[in-house]
Amino acid sequence: MSSNKDNQPIFILADNTKRTTGREAQRMNILAAKLVAETVRTTLGPKGMDKMLVDSVGSITVTNDGVTILEEMNIDHPSAKMIVEIAKTQEDEVGDGTTTAVVLAGELLKKAEGLLDQEIHPTVIAKGYRLAAEKAREVLNAMAENITFEDDDLLGKIAMTAMTGKGAEASKELLSGLVVKAVKRVSSKHKDGISIDQDDIKIEKKLGGGVEESSLIEGIALDKERVHSSMPKKVESAKIALIDSAIEVKSTEIDAKISISDPEKMQAFLDMEENMLRKMVDRIAASKASVVFCQKGIDDTAQHFLAKKGILAARRVTKSDLEKLSKATGGKIINDLSDLQEKDLGKAGVVEEVRFGDEQMILVKDCKNPKSVTLLVRGSTEHVVAEVKRAVEDAIGDTIAALRSQKVVAGAGAPEIELAKSLHKFSESFGGREQLAIKAFAEAMEVIPRTLAENAGLDPIDVLTELRAAHDKKSNWSGINVFSGKVMDAWKEGVLEPLKIKTQAVSSAAEVAVMILRIDDVIAGGPDKMPVLGQGGMPPGGMGEY
Ligand code: ADP
Ligand code: MG
Repeated sequence: MSSNKDNQPIFILADNTKRTTGREAQRMNILAAKLVAETVRTTLGPKGMDKMLVDSVGSITVTNDGVTILEEMNIDHPSAKMIVEIAKTQEDEVGDGTTTAVVLAGELLKKAEGLLDQEIHPTVIAKGYRLAAEKAREVLNAMAENITFEDDDLLGKIAMTAMTGKGAEASKELLSGLVVKAVKRVSSKHKDGISIDQDDIKIEKKLGGGVEESSLIEGIALDKERVHSSMPKKVESAKIALIDSAIEVKSTEIDAKISISDPEKMQAFLDMEENMLRKMVDRIAASKASVVFCQKGIDDTAQHFLAKKGILAARRVTKSDLEKLSKATGGKIINDLSDLQEKDLGKAGVVEEVRFGDEQMILVKDCKNPKSVTLLVRGSTEHVVAEVKRAVEDAIGDTIAALRSQKVVAGAGAPEIELAKSLHKFSESFGGREQLAIKAFAEAMEVIPRTLAENAGLDPIDVLTELRAAHDKKSNWSGINVFSGKVMDAWKEGVLEPLKIKTQAVSSAAEVAVMILRIDDVIAGGPDKMPVLGQGGMPPGGMGEY
């Protein structure tokens, strides 16, 4: 609202618009962002706790994974959502380090609040943070060590670090071996580097058995069984039809009632249906297919005909599996059966139904494209396999990130202490308020080792003091051993992470912090649109600590 010279008020916003401005807007936004960070903070590191999330229909997820927690939480506040976005970016770019990114963002905002209280203008803080973030990337790059494609030992350690303290912990040796093998299998080396398509690795969960029974299958494993027990269990030199329409006689779109008075007419009607199905199966057989994977249903009668022709068939194969099969076997996904030709069929050395625990799976092995693998994750309960799968995904993401850039750092808080140290030094070349902002950024980096220590039940002040002293003596990889509480050489102990996990986390945390800081006006288009803390599934204090 403003007024002109006749003292007539002018309204530029609708009646029910809510608006907060200035310090108040900043305070609310920072608070919301900090709450998000506070929520995931307790899960950081090998000694981090898990969260149990229950959705609106009562299904339960038990997880330690930052991005999973935030996605399931249904966060509503706009600036809190911006923090969730960085977890998603981190997940897409690296596949791990989501908690780190969020915790860093929360701490950067917390430190910024202190600066705002000292009347330092947000644009000055933003500038300092940007300079610091750029310098941080430089420092991390300079610290990083090289890794080669052949270095299975280091790659294994990277995969293992990703799984430490997660559901996969107990079998991390086995799983990290599988992860490295899978990633290398789908990579190709060429003169400009290494190209890897993560989609070539399928992760399939199978209940039953222990995590230690997880295995790597060269080819594609489908959580399916043959539709008919007299179909062959194993087909060699398989020619595979990939069909995304139903092998059924289409029921009419509109509910039509057919009244048949004469039993002969009834028979004729059934015969006609049977004939149509027979023709469909004949068409498949004519293409020389010996295996059928169908995305939709397969009619009972058609199943019977397929079995008689000695064709192995599975129905309701997911779209993504059908796409993976297409890539692996070189087959084309066909919608209209009358288009099916021999050249559309995919090829695989063996397709067979195999028993895992009490259940069957269909394995498609020796595919035309040998770069397809399935990591079969086993576990005794639904929650266990789901969490192991998430840990394995993190490990795959880290291994791929390490191979892509061929740069690795040690973890356990070592790089963050080194960053704090280098950025403090860097800040001295700036004057006044900018220097304060860079210093605040430097201090914020220490939230990672501090949280690792806190989550392990250690005294964070003692730990940080010891770590700083070690880094002053130039041992760059000094990190915290969360099991003994002592300072360790994180590199020697094999706590390794891809460089990208750190550079991405620092960059996106700084970006979102700056973005939130620069907001001084929140205008919401209706009373129910106004962000209110404590609503929308995020009570103050996050989800509570336990
Ligand atoms: P994020 O979602 O950020 O990946 P994690 O819960 O996986 O969160 O924790 C990652 C942090 O744990 C990293 O800082 C990493 O260096 C540290 N970490 C992993 N393994 C160890 C270990 N064995 N000892 C100490 N720190 C570790
Ligand atoms: Mg992790």
